[in-house]
Amino acid sequence: MAIKFNVEDVRFKGERVKHEIDDKSPSLVRDFDKCVLCRRCVATCKNVQKIGAIDCVNRGFESCVSTAYNGSLNDVNCTFCGQCIESCPVGALHEKENITDVWQKLRDPDTYVVVQTAPAVRVALGEEFGMEIGTNVTGKMVTALKMLGFDKVFDTNTGADFTIMEEATEFVRRFKENDNLPMATSCCPAWIKFVETEYPENIPNLSTCKSPHQMFGAILKSYYAEKNNIDAKNIYVVSVMPCTAKKYERQRDEMQNDGKYDVDCVITTRELARMIKQANINFVDLENNKFDDPMGEATGAAAIFGTTGGVMEAALRTAYEIITGEKLENLNFEDVRGEKGIKKAVVKIGDKEVKVAVAHGLKNARKISEEIKQGNADFDFVEVMACPGGCVMGGGQPIKKSKIRAEVDVRSKRASAIYEIDEKSDVRKSHENEVLKQIYKEYLGEPGEHRAHELLHTGYMKKEKYNI
Ligand code: SF4
Ligand code: SF4
Repeated sequence: MAIKFNVEDVRFKGERVKHEIDDKSPSLVRDFDKCVLCRRCVATCKNVQKIGAIDCVNRGFESCVSTAYNGSLNDVNCTFCGQCIESCPVGALHEKENITDVWQKLRDPDTYVVVQTAPAVRVALGEEFGMEIGTNVTGKMVTALKMLGFDKVFDTNTGADFTIMEEATEFVRRFKENDNLPMATSCCPAWIKFVETEYPENIPNLSTCKSPHQMFGAILKSYYAEKNNIDAKNIYVVSVMPCTAKKYERQRDEMQNDGKYDVDCVITTRELARMIKQANINFVDLENNKFDDPMGEATGAAAIFGTTGGVMEAALRTAYEIITGEKLENLNFEDVRGEKGIKKAVVKIGDKEVKVAVAHGLKNARKISEEIKQGNADFDFVEVMACPGGCVMGGGQPIKKSKIRAEVDVRSKRASAIYEIDEKSDVRKSHENEVLKQIYKEYLGEPGEHRAHELLHTGYMKKEKYNI
C-alpha cells in the first residue's frame, strides 16, 4: 500500500519495539517492525509445511515472531520455500530483492545480459497487472523483457528439456541396476535443502541432475558462449523464477563450472513485475513476441514442470521411449496430476512395472522421506516439490489476498494454463527437441556422460539444521 500511495515516511511516531532486520539469507528478508502478529506465517511454516522454523516468542508488548535463539533464517532449518511470504498480509516477510543488481548490469555496455524465465512465471505474471488468474502471458512477457534491455530472452523450458534428458536417462540406469532406489527428483532447491538438513541419509536417493535454470545457465556459459564468440566472463545470466529458494540455490558452491556461477542473479515473478512497472511499460497492451533463437524452442513436456506431477509426467514420456524403443501413444499420465498431496501410480513400461509417487508441500515430503529412510518406500521414482501445488504456487509468485485464496482455486487455474501450453505444443517430448539433439550431438555427447555430466550434474551433502 505504501508503494501504491507513494508513502515514504510515517508521521505518527509512538512507542515501538525496534527489531533488527534479518537480511542474512540469500532468499528472504524479515522486517518485524512491520509485523502485526497475525501469525499466519507461523501457521504456514508449522502446519502447512511442517518445518516450524518460526514461532511466536515473549509476551505482551515484547511479543514477536522469531526463530530458534532469535537467529537469522539463514542459520536455522528454514528451507527458503517462501510460503510464509505468500501468507504475510503486511510485507514483514519478503524476498531478498535483486532488482538493483539487474538494472546495473543492463546499464553496463560491456555485459551481455541474458534472461531466462521459468514455466510457472508466464501463467502468473499477468495477475500483477490486473489480468485474470492463470492467463498465459508468454508473448507479452517476452516483449517486456526485450523492452527492459536484455540482450537475449530465453526460455527455461529448454533447460527443463535438458533436465528430462538427463534425469530420465539417470533413472533408467538406476532402475536397471537397482542403484539407490527410489530415485528422487532434484529440481526443487527447498526440497534439496530439506533432505540435506533433515534426512541426510536419503541424499544418495536424490538425482544428481541440476535444476532446469542451473542447467541452462551452464549451457549458456559454455556452448552458447563458444558458439557466439562471447567471453563467458562477460555473460550475466538472470533467471526469472516463481521461487525464493532459487536465490539460495544459485549461489551454492556446487553450482559452478570453471569458477563461474551457472546463474548470476535470480529474481522472482513479483520482482519482474516491479521492474516492468518501474520502466512504465503498459504490460496489458503489449504485442506478443517469441523467445530468441537458437535456444527458444522447448517442448510441452518442459512446460508442465511448473505444476505438481509435471516433472514425473515429462520424465515418464522420455523414459518410456528409451526403455521400450516404442512410440508412447497416450502422453497424459492423469494419475500423477491433480491436487492430492501424495499421488502414487504404477506405470507399465514394456514388460516392467515402474512404481512412481508424486508429493507436493513439505508436509508430504516429510512422509515420503520417512518411508525412504525406514526402507519401506513402495515406489521406484518420486517427484517432490516443496510448495503446495508445485512452482505455480511458489514463494515468488504474485501474492493473493486471503479472500481470493478462499474463493478461487488459484493453483488449478494456473496449472490448467500450463497444461494447455503442453496440449498446444507441436513437440511434447523432451527427447524430440531438435535444438537439444543438436547440442548433444555437437557439444555434450550422450546424456549423463562426459561433458553432459560435468556441466549438468552436481552433488549434495549433509548440512547442519542449526548454525547457532
Ligand atoms: S521460507 Fe518456508 S521454511 Fe522458511 S520460514 Fe518461511 S515457510 Fe518456513
Ligand atoms: S516447488 Fe518450485 S517454487 Fe517452490 S521451492 Fe520448489 S522449485 Fe521453488
